[in-house]
Amino acid sequence: MADTDTAPGAQRFIPPQADTLDELRAAATGCRGCELYRDATQTVFGRGDASARVVFVGEQPGDMEDQKGLPFVGPAGRLLRKAVDDAGLDPGHIYLTNAVKHFRFELRGKRRIHQTPDRVHITACRPWLVAEFAQLAPEVIVVLGATAAKALLGPTFRVTRQRGELLPWPAAAQHPEDFHQVPVDNAGHAADAPPAQLLATIHPSAVLRADNQDVAYDGLVADLTVVSRALTGRPGR
Ligand code: SF4
Repeated sequence: MADTDTAPGAQRFIPPQADTLDELRAAATGCRGCELYRDATQTVFGRGDASARVVFVGEQPGDMEDQKGLPFVGPAGRLLRKAVDDAGLDPGHIYLTNAVKHFRFELRGKRRIHQTPDRVHITACRPWLVAEFAQLAPEVIVVLGATAAKALLGPTFRVTRQRGELLPWPAAAQHPEDFHQVPVDNAGHAADAPPAQLLATIHPSAVLRADNQDVAYDGLVADLTVVSRALTGRPGR
């Protein structure tokens, strides 16, 4: 359970005139949109290629990400980069972010144990995701795991049922109007380009927890290969 059922949300911390990811990243360091900032070390904003054709959205930073201030630098991140590579995507030209930008954990002794964010945290943090997407022009958004799927696709979406399928954007999403600017052109206007597509798959941390890691890993690579094939032969924006 969350400490609170409501949170003020991130919107008031987002500079209205921000027009780069760097400006958003700087502003996010001071976010107090929900209580998660209190115990976490720092905000972990997205990073990567601002002109990436593929954007990955995970759940929240983990212990190592919280300490380093960078997303996907822990064991799950390393596994994801390998899977991206094995699927034929270029790990140097992707953008990685999370639905929730502070680490939520429970202290057990000296250990910080990951806790799944609640809906209140996902909702509070959503404006950062919307603001990030307004600066990006991805062709495919890869949704990693159930929490990111809830943030982008609504609470009824089931990753287990619809993983590995390229889906229209944002027909299945809650509040699709939030993402009406995806993709945007260089001037920040809705671009005259086909809308981005979505593909959901398991979170790389689920591969690390799986009884049979090889099978789970092959499944993740197979899903990402769908993305790689879709982009092959398609000219970039
Ligand atoms: S989790 Fe998101 S909304 Fe909550 S304080 Fe951190 S950046 Fe702000």
